[in-house]
This record gives sequence, structure tokens and C-alpha cells, in this order.
Amino acid sequence: EYYLDNIERQNGQLNAFLEVWADEARAQAEAVDAKLAAGTAGPLAGMVVGLKDVLAYAGHALQSSSRMLDGFKSLFTGTAVQRLLDADAILIGRQNCDEFAMGGSNETSFFGPARNAQDPTRVPGGSSGGSAVAVQADMCLASIGSDTGGSVRQPAAFCGVVGLKPTYSRISRYGLVAFASSFDQIGPITRSVEDAALLLEVMAGPDAMDSTVSQHEVPAYSQLLTPAPHYRIGYIADAINSEGLNPEIRQALEGQIELLRGQGHVVKAVDFPYLDFMIPTYYILTTAEASSNLGRFDGVKYGYRAPDATDLESLYKKSRSQGFGAEVQRRILLGTFVLSASYYDAYYTKAQRVRRLIKEKTDELLRQYDFLILPTTPTTAFKLGEKQDPVSMYLADIFTVQASLAGVPAISVPVGEDAAGLPIGLQVMAGAFREADLLAFAHGLT
Ligand code: GLN
Repeated sequence: EYYLDNIERQNGQLNAFLEVWADEARAQAEAVDAKLAAGTAGPLAGMVVGLKDVLAYAGHALQSSSRMLDGFKSLFTGTAVQRLLDADAILIGRQNCDEFAMGGSNETSFFGPARNAQDPTRVPGGSSGGSAVAVQADMCLASIGSDTGGSVRQPAAFCGVVGLKPTYSRISRYGLVAFASSFDQIGPITRSVEDAALLLEVMAGPDAMDSTVSQHEVPAYSQLLTPAPHYRIGYIADAINSEGLNPEIRQALEGQIELLRGQGHVVKAVDFPYLDFMIPTYYILTTAEASSNLGRFDGVKYGYRAPDATDLESLYKKSRSQGFGAEVQRRILLGTFVLSASYYDAYYTKAQRVRRLIKEKTDELLRQYDFLILPTTPTTAFKLGEKQDPVSMYLADIFTVQASLAGVPAISVPVGEDAAGLPIGLQVMAGAFREADLLAFAHGLT
């Protein structure tokens, strides 16, 4: 009732939830109460969780905040969501996001932007913007988002909460609407690192429905949150010195570095020579994968169908032109271009090679150091409508796409605020499958 009440009071302004499952949540809460009384409750008993509108939950609308999936209801429940239910979480509603998770401000949503609760003239970040605001404004205890190039970490930073992108393949993608399949990961957005650890523990692990999921054993992350006394930590000097970085974020980071040194950790500047190649590589590969993944939305099988089609080809054209928003169309076109026969080697193949270089260098650094720290974002939350030019929006992903290109885990934790009171996030990356260390270290920071 507490969360339902907070939604009721704030959602009109913040637009974080597209749909609230009040009656179902109440029924789940009663069932969990009974289990608690009987001593049979699961590890998430009583945890009220919201779901980004990209996660399949049987019988519930699933739209990726797009007109293209108008009226579509999922026929099945995805693995991560099923595991939440099995652990007795209470699912409270479906959350706003950028259309098909393409964006960094929640402004590409067909349902209009979500707004930052700290300052509603500003964006909450994206694409999991509604999910981050919902936690920021106490409309649920935790949210489940998805992160392809920063969509859990960046909105978490803008909203002053914790966002974790696990190692690629740590959580099954079965039941996650595909954007760029070699990047997509489900991840929790929470108020505390403990809650992120608990949710990861419940959602992670082998699954017969996703052939790419890792078979690595899942540690009891929530029991392993004591940080070690001495870590080796690297920071990417070029990132912290980069011209576009807001000085208050630089200061917050330098403050953290001093603090960590004072605690006895080794903190050293490291060289990462590929910073300039990160955004182009990410946007070539993800648009290529998106153009292929979104081919399934043709007006025939799912959701929206143009009413005025005259033959099959016009059905495809009209449904896709009317169903997809401008940003999604831009990415489908760009992706189709880089995959086209005459440009494939110049763009797609080359970007794959650069991805390999970025991954190898990142992995090497993460063997030399336990963690790499860097800003989550170059600025704090910007104003709605401020970034009209798509390229300026893409460039804001500069610090989050490295972990996505390399497939390694990364977390954003709040480490203060700027003069206007807007939250600042610190990002920490660790080697693949080192979430236990990453979470313990992050826990020590908060
Ligand atoms: N902002 C990035 C993009 O638009 C990240 C999106 C995401 O992680 N889903 O591609």
C-alpha cells in the first residue's frame, strides 16, 4: 500500500509506470504474508519490484514503449521474471523506457518521457528511465532494467541509485525483448548494493531457454559483501581528464581516488588507448544487430498493423513507418547500411575487430587490477529536450559502452551530487564473472 500510494501521488508527473498491477500486487502480498507466517517464504519475500517494459510476463502487456507493440500481451514469462516470482517478489507494474531501449533519456518512448524526481524539468536518463525514477521516488523498492550500452547504469547515476550490469550471459535473456543480442543484459536498479546482490543471485544462472547463458555457478552474492582490505584499482586517466567531463564529476571522482588511497588501496592511472573508438564501434555493432532483431516486427505477427495497407509490401512499409518512432527507424536504417554487401567489410567487420581490441585491452587491465573506476556519465541529468541532435545523445554513452563491448560486469553507485543537487554516479568495472568482488567493493563505497 505504501508503494501504491507513492505511485498514485507521483506518477502523473513522473510518468515512470505505464501500468500498475495494484490488485495482483495486493494478492501476491497476501500470499507472501501467508508464506511468511508458515515459514516457507522465498528470499525476496516482500520485495516490491517494477519491470521495465521489455520483460515478458505472461498475460501482461509488453510494448518496449513502442506503438509497434500496441495491444500486445506476452504469452509466456521470461526466466528472470519467473525467478523473481518463485522467490516471492511482489511485481507492481510495467515501467516506461526509451522505445526498444534505444536512447539515453527516456525521450524516445511512445508514451512520453519519464522525468527525474530530483528535478522534473530534467531527464531520468535511459533507456531504463522509468525504472530508475521509480526507485528514486520510492514507488517500488527495486526495478529490473536492461543494459545494452549503459541503460541500467546511466539512469541509476542520473537518479542517485545503484545500477548493475552483470557479465554478459550471467542472466538468461529468455523473455527480454532483443535490441543487440551480443550486448543485452538484464540488471537490477536498487537503493542499496545488498538489494542488487540479492536480486542478481536470484536471477542469474544456467537456463535451458537461452543457449548463450553461462554455466558458471552462481555465488551467494548477498553473503559475500565484505570488501577485502587491499585492492588494486586502476582509473582511466584519459576518461577523467577528458574535456567533455563535467568538473564537478571530475572532482567527485578525484575525491573517491584520494579516499581509496587513504584506505590503503593501490590506485593507479592506467592507459586505455581506444577511448575514441568506443562510440563508433558500439553504434555500428548495435545498430547492425538491431536491424536484424527488429525485422520480426512486420505488422503481421505482433502488435500494430497499419489499417490502410493495400497489399503485403504496403502492409510492411506502412506498419513499420507508423509503428516505429524516429530513433528506432534511424537505427534500423544505419544497421541495414553497415550490413549491406558493399559496406559490410568497411563497417561491420572492422567494428568487430575493434571490439576485439577493446575487449582484449579491457580484460588485460582487469587482470592487472581488481577494478577499473571511471565516471558513469560525462554530465549530471540534463534538461528534457536539451539534446536534439542524435550524435550528442550517443556521445553521452562514452563511459558506459566499454563494459558492454567487453562483456564485463559494471556497477554505478551514487557518490554525491553537483551544486544543483543532481546525483553523481561512480562506475566500477571488474573482470568477467567477478560480480562477488565487484559488489563487495561497491558495498564498501556506499
Ligand atoms: N544509450 C545507449 C543506446 O541508446 C544504451 C541503450 C541501452 O543500453 N539499451 O544505445
